[in-house]
Amino acid sequence: IGMALREGVIQKEFRLHYQPIVSLQTGRVAGYEALLRWYTPNQGILNPDDFMYAIDTANLIYSTDHWVLQNACRQAVEWQNKFSSTPPLYISVNLSAKNIKHPNLVDNIYQVLQETKLDPRKLCLEITEKTSAPNDESTIEVLRKLRSIGIQISLDDFGTGYSALNYLAQFPVDVLKIDQSFIKMIGKKDGSNQIVEMIKALATHLGIIVVAEGVEKVEQMEFLKSINCEYAQGYFYSKPLDARSTTELLKKGYQWEQG
Ligand code: C2E
Ligand code: MG
Ligand code: MG
Repeated sequence: IGMALREGVIQKEFRLHYQPIVSLQTGRVAGYEALLRWYTPNQGILNPDDFMYAIDTANLIYSTDHWVLQNACRQAVEWQNKFSSTPPLYISVNLSAKNIKHPNLVDNIYQVLQETKLDPRKLCLEITEKTSAPNDESTIEVLRKLRSIGIQISLDDFGTGYSALNYLAQFPVDVLKIDQSFIKMIGKKDGSNQIVEMIKALATHLGIIVVAEGVEKVEQMEFLKSINCEYAQGYFYSKPLDARSTTELLKKGYQWEQG
């Protein structure tokens, strides 16, 4: 995989899939998360877990995330123009924590927003805490800059990594994504419901919106709704789909049944 990775591959063989993020209150799609796929000539479609490491090793993580940002923003504007909704759809893009340290990050993001004409308030950047705790001063400074123009910052996979509760309060974040591992345990293991409920309560106190990841079952959706969790994402609603199938879904204006 590493051998096959060259800058040109990104343009030619990378595609984005999109997974809806659904409002638990209305059952309607509020936004989409862009998820990277590699359409290889020989090995079929690969998921990020199969090749992110190679991308990192090949020093392509910055160009990859930049490519994703450009394409996701362009696609979001296209959908916003074609399918108007109130509020307009937002797009969520994953950003490797490493890239926050890149000297051109902020300028490049501004540039993409200008080029694509996406409203910054309709862009959400997801930062995972799996790899590193993004809690040093320089990171916080960058996130503050991005937020000052209206970009939303989301903490991905919350609860799995280095997320000490003490830095949540000082970390400039708008959205918290509760990791799938907690959602899977809803209704199964003693204490899991309470942990999810506790995370939601904490977020509410801090003025942070919650997205539940990996929602697969109606019981999970119902529990999340009962604790006033704002958004949910997972196979219960839809798997990540390619741009064409997502467009079809938007055309139908689908609304999910609410428990
Ligand atoms: P993530 O950002 O936490 O994305 C959620 C992952 O969970 C996605 O896997 C998605 O397909 C999967 N998923 C969604 N709903 C369900 C469900 O109901 N059940 C289960 N079992 N899985 C579900 P995916 O697409 O393989 O991506 C894996 C990770 O790779 C992402 O986790 C993200 O950290 C990273 N990633 C994806 N795209 C990008 C990208 O463009 N840039 C960077 N830096 N990282 C990316
Ligand atoms: Mg994510
Ligand atoms: Mg996640």
